Amino acid sequence: MPSTRKLKVLITGGAGFIGSNLARKYLERGDEVYIIDNLSTGKMENLADVMEKYPGKIYFKKDSILNDGALMEMAGIADVIIHLAAAVGVKYIIDNPLSSLETNIVGTENVLKWAKKFKKKIFIASSSEVYGDQEKAPLEEEDSVIYGPSVKLRWSYAASKLVDEFLALANHRTLHIPVVICRFFNIIGPNQTGDYGMVVPRFIGQALSHEPLLVHGDGGQSRTFTYIEDAVRAIVEMVDNDQCIGEIINLGGREEIKIRELAQKIIDLTGSRSKIELVPFERVYGKDFDDMRRRVPSLEKIQRLIGYEPRFGLEEALKEIIGNRVIQGS
Ligand code: NAD
Repeated sequence: MPSTRKLKVLITGGAGFIGSNLARKYLERGDEVYIIDNLSTGKMENLADVMEKYPGKIYFKKDSILNDGALMEMAGIADVIIHLAAAVGVKYIIDNPLSSLETNIVGTENVLKWAKKFKKKIFIASSSEVYGDQEKAPLEEEDSVIYGPSVKLRWSYAASKLVDEFLALANHRTLHIPVVICRFFNIIGPNQTGDYGMVVPRFIGQALSHEPLLVHGDGGQSRTFTYIEDAVRAIVEMVDNDQCIGEIINLGGREEIKIRELAQKIIDLTGSRSKIELVPFERVYGKDFDDMRRRVPSLEKIQRLIGYEPRFGLEEALKEIIGNRVIQGS
């Protein structure tokens, strides 16, 4: 049942792309938001509008989830913890392999420690990457995972998120900590940075400046995309709904598209003079990369639990993001 009382919500990684949008959603609902973020990939500008609009309702602390101080204090105050802080993006992980593993495993263990200590409900952000090199479609939550060799560092992100899931489930099953685990499938929206390999903001940036759209590999790999408004609405509903406790739940979109077609769609929607250029994966990521050809979620479970259905189609989502970039003049 949706909660009627006002919540105090701790969002780790709340200055990031998803976290800042989620903070806005909770503040609009009248809840209070507490944020811990070390600003490694997040930015204060992502929170500037809500800091101004909701003074006294949003509290920010620049700190790492690897430290206990602020985390302990805010976890003690909060009614629920939404754990989003992580090293994100294939490029970022390959460039920073050690600190990424530390953040994604030790950091999650630390956040779970305080959820456990104060007996708080905790939502853990996992990823479609967890499925690994699975070509089956659609992917269901109980499907097997398939990884490449550990010498290919790109798998460390998937493996670390899988460890997070095991840690959360073990805490739930042995100590009855109320955990909700959600696997996000390529969430997109305004203010997402393309700096760490995210394909949509990178393509839109290239198209708007009429540079070549660099498609990695043969461009025949396909993905689905989830618009941020659909994502934050679903996160709030999963957190509110006790049926989601102890579950692993896919959150994604329905339209599968090949990356080469995505590039063409963005060129068409921006009216760009850009051309598509294919670039081998090794040239972008070095030897540490392996590709996944397909990643399509089954939405059966999330539909059953919270009645989720994406409201934004891919084209509508792209138009929103492009419109926002044009207004910002980037
Ligand atoms: P993001 O990089 O914008 O957000 C992550 C935030 O965590 C950043 O603000 C960063 O500064 C912060 N952070 C990193 N290390 C930290 C630390 N040690 N202490 C405190 N803060 C730290 O990325 P996002 O897209 O908003 O991702 C949010 C979550 O969703 C992550 O857990 C990510 O793995 C997961 N996810 C995202 C997607 C997607 O499509 N965006 C897909 C799958 C999973």
